[in-house]
Amino acid sequence: MYTNETDFENRMVDPEYNAADTETENPLRPKTLSDYIGQEKVKENLAIYIEAAKKRNEALDHVLLYGPPGLGKTTLAGIIANEMGVNLRITSGPAIERPGDLAALLTSLNEGDVLFIDEIHRLPRVVEEILYPAMEDFSIDIITGKGQMAASYHLPLPKFTLVGATTRAGQLSAPLRDRFGVVLRLELYTPEELSKIITRSAGILGIGIEADGSLEIASRSRGTPRIANRFLKRIRDFAEIMSDGVITYNTAKIALDRMEVDELGLDSGDRRMLSAIINFYGGGPVGVETLGAAIGEEAITIEDVVEPYLMQIGFLRRTPRGRCVTKSAYLHLGLTPPDCAACPPEQQSLLD
Ligand code: ADP
Repeated sequence: MYTNETDFENRMVDPEYNAADTETENPLRPKTLSDYIGQEKVKENLAIYIEAAKKRNEALDHVLLYGPPGLGKTTLAGIIANEMGVNLRITSGPAIERPGDLAALLTSLNEGDVLFIDEIHRLPRVVEEILYPAMEDFSIDIITGKGQMAASYHLPLPKFTLVGATTRAGQLSAPLRDRFGVVLRLELYTPEELSKIITRSAGILGIGIEADGSLEIASRSRGTPRIANRFLKRIRDFAEIMSDGVITYNTAKIALDRMEVDELGLDSGDRRMLSAIINFYGGGPVGVETLGAAIGEEAITIEDVVEPYLMQIGFLRRTPRGRCVTKSAYLHLGLTPPDCAACPPEQQSLLD
């Protein structure tokens, strides 16, 4: 069993934000919709809603953004605020512990401001309940004191826009989800889109990069701009030593190979997970909790961080009975798929 493994910790391909990203991410965040690469449908819709709200001189309707980490949800919240010409306040679900914390935040907003709540599915229930009237009627009722000393205050709020972000729209309670007028899903990026993002980032950071160098980084970045930018920063060091500071195809390839990220962007953590399903569970199906215990990783991390990309490239399938590895995953790992690996999940489950 792969317990006590550190494969999933500090992974270069972890799409979740970490402290080392701060320095690179801030200057790299696009500030306008036209600078934001990819997600065409999302941009088209947002552009219309923003223009209409501006014409009516109103705050934009509340927006829910969902999709895997690192795809640009925080960036979009900033763009919305910028395009609307208002301030942005950033917080997250777990950071708002008590109703009073939310009340303090809401009452400090100006008319039209954007409040961004990351990981909104993790808001405590008591806080969520205050958010409903705040979103709907732009007011909150606060109760202070206890027993006979209790008093209730009705506080009107400025008309603000809530931008909520979540990796899992399914975990949001129905009353909260229903209060968002605009719900947008972000998709993993194509290598071509990521290549444009990398070229743009390289320009901002003053890094020389050749077109096939940026495409090589892009194709190993698991559809995720955060990972692409992280690679770019690291490969810059290799380029300084190997190729006069310019990232060529070769530098990118050698650097990524050294980081043990393969041509498809899989690292040793992904390979271990796929191998565990194959070696311990005959290719699947296996429940995500069981799998998590086998590889020493939390089920939620597997679901939010590891699986979306493996499913996107067709290496993994979620079935009602658990996870199944596909034929292409066997082949990628240099293994011969058993006859039933390519069968429908119902048949695969016979392997259980
Ligand atoms: P999320 O909030 O979804 O986790 P972020 O908005 O923090 O992701 O984006 C992570 C990084 O990726 C940011 O530094 C940003 O510069 C970059 N990024 C994300 N989306 C885009 C995009 N469409 N175009 C250019 N850069 C992007």
